[in-house]
Amino acid sequence: MQKIKKILLDLKESSNLRTLSQLIHDGAYITKDGKRLLNLASNDYLGLGASDELFDEFLDTTSKKSLKFSASSSRSLSGNFEIFSEFESFLAKSYGDGKSALLFNSGYHLNVGVISALASLKNTLFIIDRQAHASAYDGLRLGGASFERFRHNDTAHIKEILDKNSGKFERFIIITEALFSMDGDEAPLGELGRIKSEHEGVWLYVDEAHSVGACGHDGLGLCKDSGVDVDFVVFTFGKAICSMGAALICDETVREFLINRARSLIYSTAIAPINVAFTHFIFKKLGKMKQKRAHLQSLSDELKVELKKHGAQVLGSRYIISVLAGSSDSALKMAARLQHCGYFAPAVRPPTVAPNTARVRLSLCANMQKDELLGVVNAL
Ligand code: PMP
Repeated sequence: MQKIKKILLDLKESSNLRTLSQLIHDGAYITKDGKRLLNLASNDYLGLGASDELFDEFLDTTSKKSLKFSASSSRSLSGNFEIFSEFESFLAKSYGDGKSALLFNSGYHLNVGVISALASLKNTLFIIDRQAHASAYDGLRLGGASFERFRHNDTAHIKEILDKNSGKFERFIIITEALFSMDGDEAPLGELGRIKSEHEGVWLYVDEAHSVGACGHDGLGLCKDSGVDVDFVVFTFGKAICSMGAALICDETVREFLINRARSLIYSTAIAPINVAFTHFIFKKLGKMKQKRAHLQSLSDELKVELKKHGAQVLGSRYIISVLAGSSDSALKMAARLQHCGYFAPAVRPPTVAPNTARVRLSLCANMQKDELLGVVNAL
């Protein structure tokens, strides 16, 4: 116990101790320590969580047999409800290009399960963006994968790694995110597509956790609109889709392989049917949410212009906006100032981000109002 206490004390002394806040949620707002704050820490980018009408419509239009709160078994045994296959077929058809879809309990389950399963293919080198999500790294480590990290979004570095390893491996799997969760910037998908076409044995694995729903003409993410043939597209549903779970868009053969090899799928009770039904319900509406996506982008553009005008160091091409603070301590002070002025945006500190790049991460939602949001600039 002494050892654990020492670890916690060290984290506290370096301003890196995480705690869980007591919060009350109300649409775009939360109440923390008795104070109502605009929630800039949610990934509900389309603001769907605030809509009671949407939930009522879901309950009114969904058959009772899909409204189960537990699958009571893994899908490999008796947990494969009709709604799972219905939604997978819908996703595959919407995505097109002859792809299949396979559901997972969460994005974390998906990345860990899929990447560790792919790591069992002999002679595979994974090439992963330094800033890729922890779940992708956990998948690599769990699968005992051979991997090299490339500098964030640096395709010249990817080519260097490919050249250095040419002839030593049968396949190379490049892992990245379509829209990065921390810097809010986008993967160079076109260039990655060119690398794939120029190098034998290159597969692309792109995590659309932060882009599905809120990006793309029909809300199906950035890969689809890019026209690049991405081998593994990861959709997660806990963010813009306002649900829970995840799906991999891949070839049918890969899907069959994962049903047999992805341990997080095989050895876990399947996600609740009610969640899958809700995700399906939202996906059917995504194409019509263009106005929400446009409003979100215009809110984000205006806020960035104002922040930059006032000298803030800002990262992000869309609705994830990071205001750099440098040290963990400065980021904590920045977050405290925001909270004082009515905004909730916690500091993001190492190890989640690189040393000296601690920041406040502003995550915007389509149901926010411009005037209130721009108040952030004065608060900072
Ligand atoms: N990938 C990325 C890029 C993420 O940001 C996250 C969640 N923070 C995940 C995967 C994990 O998804 P989930 O929350 O559904 O487990």
